[in-house]
Amino acid sequence: MTSDQQSDRTTRVRCCIVGGGPAGMMLGYLLGRAGIDVVVLEKHADFFRDFRGDTVHPSTLQVMDELGLIDGFLKLPHQRLQKIDGLFGGTPVRIADLSRLHTKYPFIAFMPQWDFLNFLREAGKRFASLEVMMSAEAVDLIRRGDTVAGVRAKTPDGFIDIEADLTIACDGRHSTVRERAGLALEEIGAPMDVLWFRAGRRADETESVFARVEPGKMMITFDRGDYWQCAYVIAKGRYDAVKARGLQALLDDVARMAPILRSGITDVKSFDDIKLLTVAINRLERWTQPGLLCIGDAAHAMSPVGGVGVNLAVQDAVATANLLVDKLQHGCPSEDELDAIRRRREFPVKMTQAMQVIVQNNIISGALQGGDRPLKVPLIVRLITALPWLQGIPARLLALGVRPEHVHSRAAPGS
Ligand SMILES: Cc1cc2nc3c(=O)[nH]c(=O)nc-3n(C[C@H](O)[C@H](O)[C@H](O)COP(=O)(O)OP(=O)(O)OC[C@H]3O[C@@H](n4cnc5c(N)ncnc54)[C@H](O)[C@@H]3O)c2cc1C
Repeated sequence: MTSDQQSDRTTRVRCCIVGGGPAGMMLGYLLGRAGIDVVVLEKHADFFRDFRGDTVHPSTLQVMDELGLIDGFLKLPHQRLQKIDGLFGGTPVRIADLSRLHTKYPFIAFMPQWDFLNFLREAGKRFASLEVMMSAEAVDLIRRGDTVAGVRAKTPDGFIDIEADLTIACDGRHSTVRERAGLALEEIGAPMDVLWFRAGRRADETESVFARVEPGKMMITFDRGDYWQCAYVIAKGRYDAVKARGLQALLDDVARMAPILRSGITDVKSFDDIKLLTVAINRLERWTQPGLLCIGDAAHAMSPVGGVGVNLAVQDAVATANLLVDKLQHGCPSEDELDAIRRRREFPVKMTQAMQVIVQNNIISGALQGGDRPLKVPLIVRLITALPWLQGIPARLLALGVRPEHVHSRAAPGS
């Protein structure tokens, strides 16, 4: 322990999950369902923030189905996307068509991430062995020799030591746990950052265009019912330059690219209404130490390309429960048993990151640095648009990813 704060309380659990994002909440649910004594620590008081991913892909919908949660889940307000269309230098293109998939849920559900996380939290309340502790921020690791033996957390009531046989870091791309454990990251890099903002949407405004690419500019728009969620892509590190040009110049660019936003964009009154999301792609070489496992973005930050990060985090959680639930009955799994998660999940992560890098380097970088040169639609995009049967391939990669996970971890009697 490097922090010098005194803890006010100590509690003991079998498993302490740090971070209540998609990875942490799904894993907490699965361990609670198996009757494992587990606590999830979330540093914020609630989930109501602008998260970075509102896409629930067919692989996650399938997991919700396997858990018997799908009917309630799909009652939450959401929009469904099957055909992913874009404008590339003004030319209409089709990037993927999920209706071609032979899968039970052939659509992406767009839902605010806080609704997804709240749903899991509510559904998990019936498991007596699961506690979700909000406003609890892990600030340090408790160590016993070389073994991680839990975390110290800061709460509104003071510090609490949570001793655990196994600590699982699900605290995202800026993971405190990973940093305290001294696990080294391999940075793969990303050429862009994203400006995230909302524009008002009138009931009669509809448009199926999802992605727009123009020389030097790129933008994604999501129809979120009463507003458009906009992701404006800029070259990495260029936010100060965007600010220096002024808000009006940015809004004019947005309205020129997407005329449908012209009236709603007036909702953006200052740069305070715009959030800069820095994009990273990286991964850990070692996901474990004795008593510690990292999953989700804490083990591998994903680029927003394809909007698959939330779903990979959920898949990691499912794989972790599948491989560890029985072992956790008896205490902490050995480091080799913990490393089985990396051995199972590293291939899908590397493949997905490799595809994200290909898109970043061949499409996004080219578009962002393109200046005023007219944009040529890349050959692969032209082929996919022209040959509808090809649209199932990107759809499959987006929807189900590489090596989709299914729930095999057992449920405790009565769960
Ligand atoms: C610009 C951008 C857009 C993206 N868009 C999408 C998208 O559309 N779809 C998609 O699927 N993915 C998207 N992603 C990727 C996605 O956000 C992540 O891959 C995904 O959220 C990872 O889930 P996670 O649970 O591992 O981590 P996170 O979602 O980062 O959750 C970590 C949680 O841990 C909490 N926490 C952090 N530190 C501590 C601590 N010390 N103690 C306690 N709690 C802590 C945080 O508050 C948070 O709730 C995007 C990423 C970026 C950068």
